[in-house]
Amino acid sequence: MQHYHYIFTGSGLSALMTVYEMILSGKFEDKTILLIDENPKKSNDRTWCFWDEKDAFSKITTKKWNSALFTDEHFKRDLELIPYQYKMIRGLDFYNLVFDLIAQHNNIHFLHQKVIDFQELGMHCVVKTETQSFTCNQIFNSIYTPELVKSQSKYPLLQQHFIGWFIKSKEGVFDTNQVTFMDFSVEQKGNTRFMYVLPTSPTEALLEYTLFSADLLPKEEYETEIKKYIEKLGINEYEIVEKEQGNIPMTSYPFWEHNTKNIINIGSVGGWTKASTGYTFKNTIKKSKQLVGFLSLESDFRKFHKKDKFWLYDLLFLDVLYKRNDLGSSVFSSLFKKGNPTLIFKFLDEETSFSEDLQVMLKCPKLPFIKALLGRLFG
Ligand SMILES: Cc1cc2nc3c(=O)[nH]c(=O)nc-3n(C[C@H](O)[C@H](O)[C@H](O)COP(=O)(O)OP(=O)(O)OC[C@H]3O[C@@H](n4cnc5c(N)ncnc54)[C@H](O)[C@@H]3O)c2cc1C
Repeated sequence: MQHYHYIFTGSGLSALMTVYEMILSGKFEDKTILLIDENPKKSNDRTWCFWDEKDAFSKITTKKWNSALFTDEHFKRDLELIPYQYKMIRGLDFYNLVFDLIAQHNNIHFLHQKVIDFQELGMHCVVKTETQSFTCNQIFNSIYTPELVKSQSKYPLLQQHFIGWFIKSKEGVFDTNQVTFMDFSVEQKGNTRFMYVLPTSPTEALLEYTLFSADLLPKEEYETEIKKYIEKLGINEYEIVEKEQGNIPMTSYPFWEHNTKNIINIGSVGGWTKASTGYTFKNTIKKSKQLVGFLSLESDFRKFHKKDKFWLYDLLFLDVLYKRNDLGSSVFSSLFKKGNPTLIFKFLDEETSFSEDLQVMLKCPKLPFIKALLGRLFG
């Protein structure tokens, strides 16, 4: 059986970002690394957006915006993002960037196969695909098993679920300087529903009908809402260039409790998705850097994760939205109506001090959050 130092079960965002950081560090050239994925990662299966004040991945950034629009049925606010910019990266450009780098390193291999099992066996780990088995010292797993979260009720599971259409319209209606971050003017129907618009030219944009809720909708419902929104924008003629869809887990479930000495869960299954928003890309940049730094000092993966105050904030937020999914629009509107946008983004990046946290949190309706806190303390 072939042996590697490290095996990555799943080779999407978090695995490729971690390998990218390993390569940049120059400290893993004597380690053999195997990446396994059931998908060859040769198509554009997702578009990542995130706010950032650094120049990360500038070569593959397709579009940047300095301003964002927040709106509901009663008000609109232009959010100046400086010092941040809102950025867009196509999944395929990221995969190609990392695979091109991997191709220059003989110690790293990619295998296009489905993983059917992996486990730690005392001194080493075993990974089985449909046709082969490998041993290794340590495993980085990013294969998500929804059953883990669904089989418990202590930590509610919401999903950020959406369908997005990249359209090209005849009429030039889009403002290319501004992304529509959240448009809550769409009918809420008892949920947290909004439209998200990423314009790349006056006639081209990605429009996503998005929910933060427990249950997915029939596909037609998302698409009917996108069509209605396109009409509302005054577009009469358009073509759909590409479609994407996603459902990203939003939960404070402590995934890291499944880490063992030699198996670490990374990406969404490692709790790297921000539970209250579903954003994962920027957190993955941070966490993979931390993980690569950790590897040069430590080898026991159980020591990697640290729980902090933001975990509790997210837990309370999800408790509120899980019980009263209809409150999402009013919570976000209260936050963005008067709140300082850059402070809100800093808070969502988990980089604020306690006094800054209070400035952000006190903008939200208090009663549901107090109830959620009491529920956690005494419930
Ligand atoms: C359409 C879409 C758009 C998104 N947009 C954003 C965004 O704008 N901003 C943001 O921050 N986040 C976004 N996300 C959320 C998040 O960034 C992504 O889901 C991200 O890819 C998560 O990284 P990951 O490594 O956890 O999982 P993935 O990137 O999904 O990697 C897991 C890998 O495991 C592989 N795999 C699964 N099962 C097996 C198996 N049995 N054997 C072998 N391989 C297997 C999969 O093929 C996949 O490549 C989006 C997600 C989706 C789906």
